[in-house]
Amino acid sequence: MTSNNPIDAPLALFGGQPVIADPLPPVVTMGEDDIAAASDVIRSGVLSGYIGAPGEAFMGGPRVRAFEAQAAEYFGVRHAIAVNSWTSGLVAAVGAIGIEPGDEIITTPWTMAATATAILHWCGIPVFADIDRDTFNIDPASVERQIGPRTRAVIAVDIFGQSADMVALRDVCTRHGLKLLGDCAQAPGAKVFDRMAGSLCDIGGYSLNYHKHIHCGEGGVIVTDDERYARRLALIRNHAEAVVQGERPADLANMLGFNFRMGEIEAAIASVQLGKLAPRVAARQRAAAQLDAGLAGLPGLKTPRVAVGNTHAYYIYGLQLDVSALGLPRARLIEALKAEGVPGLVGSYQNLHLLPMFRHKVAYGTGGFPWASPYCERTIHYGPGQCPVAEQLHAQSFLGLALGQFAHGPEQIAQVIAAFHKVWGQLDRLRPAPGALATAAVPMAATATQAASAQRRPAGATA
Ligand SMILES: *Cc1c(COP(=O)(O)O)cnc(C)c1O
Repeated sequence: MTSNNPIDAPLALFGGQPVIADPLPPVVTMGEDDIAAASDVIRSGVLSGYIGAPGEAFMGGPRVRAFEAQAAEYFGVRHAIAVNSWTSGLVAAVGAIGIEPGDEIITTPWTMAATATAILHWCGIPVFADIDRDTFNIDPASVERQIGPRTRAVIAVDIFGQSADMVALRDVCTRHGLKLLGDCAQAPGAKVFDRMAGSLCDIGGYSLNYHKHIHCGEGGVIVTDDERYARRLALIRNHAEAVVQGERPADLANMLGFNFRMGEIEAAIASVQLGKLAPRVAARQRAAAQLDAGLAGLPGLKTPRVAVGNTHAYYIYGLQLDVSALGLPRARLIEALKAEGVPGLVGSYQNLHLLPMFRHKVAYGTGGFPWASPYCERTIHYGPGQCPVAEQLHAQSFLGLALGQFAHGPEQIAQVIAAFHKVWGQLDRLRPAPGALATAAVPMAATATQAASAQRRPAGATA
């Protein structure tokens, strides 16, 4: 491949032959075993075992329960609660810890929107802390600076597949009496000092949507060691208010239930998929090691850092560009890499604090609720300048490779590396005329619009 497409051949962007001439094939996630498991359920005729009333069927059908037992064992926790999406899981988790209207929860802006909207669904107030430049995860020191009298919890996100700094975050939470929730949607199978990410939080959990490491179309699983939380999560999942009639009034708080129930087909597939998680994570780790070695030494390009004690599940392989050293805006490099056939490129990510919904405080109705209500005791500000690290990465220097979007065996990864080398070998030809770069750089004021348009991308792009 490289022999008939040498590194100094004309760039595909300028009409040359692309390094990756045939599109890399997609990842195959479903096998005969998944098909057999789903077919068994259909043949049984019972596609859901739930009833939203007291009794045996309140906790779901046999496949749901079997999947929960398997997940609890796999992730090393006492309780696993299956739900119909991880967004549902996040909403249930915020309700289960007993959030009152106006309570604040600190989280990261560098995540999928559901992390923060789960807080608003209980009329809690999301407060954003900045992220760590090396790992893209929430920065514990920034969390500590955001704590106020109404702060009740932190939601850490294991972004791109690597756990947030759980040791430091647990320390902050213990000192301030806060609960620690974990959005581990992108990090199933990732470890922190030999424990599964997610098992170190008061409540954690994983997504099983089509784009994640393992999936059942749509689904999620919540994990916790806490008996009381497990019960509350199961109640919120299934119309709690119909079941808790006999309880003391204090136990009725946040027992406004939903239908977050997972069906039997999804549970059957999820069980089979969980058995494939370890080899899938291992394959991504091999791809990442190959990329680390193959991209090392390319100037102005930094490969991902894995923090001490962590293993990384590489939902996204997160690079950073030194745009000033390169003398090139990120968009130009992406254009050139895409032309060479590199799939799964993610330019920029989320800055939730810049989304119009937060900046204009429009969630419930148009009157600013819950921010503009007697429940909210201090003015929370959302806007540019609040999370400078996240804003800089979003606007300029982050470049991701979504490994789930293409087959990533050694041969495919070798082609991706060759494409990077070809582009990096000809940066001069991509550089704008002197003086043009200053206008090409993204001014800070533009980042809100950018975040808004990033948010409108099809979900498959990043979520
Ligand atoms: C995918 C994802 C979610 C939402 O999960 P769903 O199962 O799609 O509802 C939440 N947070 C993060 C970080 C995600 O990547």
